[in-house]
Amino acid sequence: MAEKKTINELIMEYFKDHPNMDLKHGPVVDYVTQEYLKFSAEPPRDPWRAIRSLHQNGYLIKVKKGVYRYDPNYKEQVDLWDFDEETKAKILERDNYRCVVCGRGEEDGVELTVDHKKPKNSGGDNSIDNGQTLCSPHNILKKKYSRTEAGKKYIIQLYEDALRERDVAMINFCEDLFEVFDKHHIDEHIKVSKKKSFI
Ligand SMILES: [Zn+2]
Repeated sequence: MAEKKTINELIMEYFKDHPNMDLKHGPVVDYVTQEYLKFSAEPPRDPWRAIRSLHQNGYLIKVKKGVYRYDPNYKEQVDLWDFDEETKAKILERDNYRCVVCGRGEEDGVELTVDHKKPKNSGGDNSIDNGQTLCSPHNILKKKYSRTEAGKKYIIQLYEDALRERDVAMINFCEDLFEVFDKHHIDEHIKVSKKKSFI
């Protein structure tokens, strides 16, 4: 029985045996399948996807659709916790090179960053959909967002209770707080439904 290896290990083994070569999916998958079946009764699950994921995590360079390359010097240049340059460029382009919060761009004197909407440590990936353009002030603010988000959600609960109890003083207090959130463009994705109609 051959030594057990993971799909990722087998893929990297093949690429490392063929450094700096443009390799199509097909032969890589054939190799991985053949090696995998030496110690497993079942064929490997979705090696295509594993190749894409290795690329997204900075181990392989995508040459074009379905063609990847392993460059032994490449991985050091890539921050594993970040988007690759190609993905970053696409996200910036999609967002018209403007911060999605304040709409400012480099011509307004702000530096633009590409941010993970869902952080990697919460399971967010390096896909285009999970990226957004932020100016550096908003990127810094975002790091504190999880706390302001919790705060805003808590105020929404207070507000809903106040509406139910017709507590006008508390309703007004909460509405002032929501205005402060809006004024500073904090957590605009958390919507407050205002239903003051009974007053
Ligand atoms: Zn901004």
